Amino acid sequence: MKKVYGIIGKPLEHSLSPVMHNAAFQHLDLDCVYLAFEVDLDKIDDALSGAKALGIQGLNVTIPLKERVVGHVELDPLARRIGAVNTIDLVRNKGYNTDGIGAMKALEDDGISIKDKRILILGAGGAARAVAFSFGNDASTVILANRTESRAVALSRDLIPWCSSEILSVALNEVESLLGDADILINATPVGMHPDRGSAILSAGSMHSDLVVFDIVYNPMDTKFLQEAKKVGAETVDGVKMLVYQGAESFRIFTGREAPVELMESVVREALSRGEWS
Ligand code: NAP
Repeated sequence: MKKVYGIIGKPLEHSLSPVMHNAAFQHLDLDCVYLAFEVDLDKIDDALSGAKALGIQGLNVTIPLKERVVGHVELDPLARRIGAVNTIDLVRNKGYNTDGIGAMKALEDDGISIKDKRILILGAGGAARAVAFSFGNDASTVILANRTESRAVALSRDLIPWCSSEILSVALNEVESLLGDADILINATPVGMHPDRGSAILSAGSMHSDLVVFDIVYNPMDTKFLQEAKKVGAETVDGVKMLVYQGAESFRIFTGREAPVELMESVVREALSRGEWS
């Protein structure tokens, strides 16, 4: 019988996960299908028990449910530290967070190592947490810069017991003085995301040519933030690879198979270029 997987969250009409996972199932000739299920925050209990009862095998979880599902599944240690789940193996009732691994592999895929690097992360929300917990042992220093400084301070307190990297936190408006020494700059805020395409969280004037600039926003692919980085000759990485690699890690958890990442990346880039998700 066909195995069913899916994504829960709201809104989902523009989710790229079904396109990406269904292309992978087809490519590997797996008798599986991946669907989008819009679920309201107050319906999460019903949705998870219904999904289990219906024999749905696995779910990705997105805004606004990533933190809400934490109490419903047995947590893998990294998901417990992050405090958010983006992948549920419903057969084993186990929750994972693959966003940080996705970010790490996105950089590795472009030949960028985080080992002993000074990394500046803009944001202290769910995605920033996942990235910081995943990078916080290999980097020399992780600096968290957030509009609401108290959230960066709180995240740094959560990270310190688990991370061997130096962990610092600052307010977003203090970040420019720290950029000169930074190796990798990551935007983990939604600034510049469609439909607000004209905004960049930092401009070229505060960047330098030796930086790697990574924007985890993937729609549009070429954000204003990346355009600013290109003006100074910095190397850039867009958010598509992170989306693909977090999905590939979920796919491995769901099926036990390695995902066809090149195919997944090309279907996502094609869909975004066609503008169906804008
Ligand atoms: P979130 O939990 O809502 O956190 C948002 C963060 O951005 C907070 O730190 C917030 O600061 C900051 N922020 C929001 N608006 C801002 C503004 N105008 N100026 C400065 N800072 C601002 O969101 P999230 O789940 O972390 O997601 C962040 C982005 O990452 C989204 O665009 C999401 O689509 C993207 N994402 C991409 C991938 C991928 O695979 N490529 C995976 C996950 C997420 P305050 O604390 O001050 O509010």
